[in-house]
Amino acid sequence: MKSVFRIVLCMLIIFMTSVTAFADMCVPILLYHCVVEELAEEDDPRMIVTADRFSEHMQALKDHGYDTITYNQYMDYVKKGTPLPPKPIIINFDDGYENNYTYAYPILREMNMKATIFTMAGYVGATTTKYPHFTWEQALEMEHSGVIDIQSHTMTHPMMSELSYEETLREMRMSKYLIEKNMDKECKYMAYPFGVHNKWTDNLGAAAGYELMCVVGDNGANGKDSDLYAIRRLTVSQDMDADSFIKYIEENTGM
Ligand SMILES: [Zn+2]
Repeated sequence: MKSVFRIVLCMLIIFMTSVTAFADMCVPILLYHCVVEELAEEDDPRMIVTADRFSEHMQALKDHGYDTITYNQYMDYVKKGTPLPPKPIIINFDDGYENNYTYAYPILREMNMKATIFTMAGYVGATTTKYPHFTWEQALEMEHSGVIDIQSHTMTHPMMSELSYEETLREMRMSKYLIEKNMDKECKYMAYPFGVHNKWTDNLGAAAGYELMCVVGDNGANGKDSDLYAIRRLTVSQDMDADSFIKYIEENTGM
């Protein structure tokens, strides 16, 4: 009877260990746009945060044991099972604003953290709204620092579901080509403008050579079995202090 008990106990231990070893990691992705010195009255707090608030958020991640990872690390985990740190997190900026270079990049560099900027390749160095976009030189400096990974947010930020076949492929292929040419690296990831996509655009993204595409949704995190053409991201707001910011992440990672 004793030996039966021992065998059962051994099997239980082996089972528990294997469950732990193969447990899926939960990777939340945070989405920012502009980082400025001070918010103007008309600024949308979900699109624009102050440098002080951004710094507070990054410090809160450190204080709670989060490690920023890149999309390459996430893909290595998905494809090859390469281990991730215990609490991985990805920081994103969309649209490629110059204020990312001016305010967010120095904070990240100082704190030894990493982020990905999805930029509109057609607007690099241009001013199309109140906030100008960074230049290719600034992009290259950030890329070479190892802090920032520049990826695609199409050429001109269209609603992808409303484009023709040719227009969609052009937005995807041309932005990939320009980033690869200017950054001297492979551009494998894209963020959908407005997070809008469908099966058809997903297939064209794969045909254009993208391995992963991001949406928004403000819900959930990503694991090994996530749909790589609908990677979930959480929009971060200026209205979140350190506590509500951490709570927002924890609620979306089931912690
Ligand atoms: Zn955008």
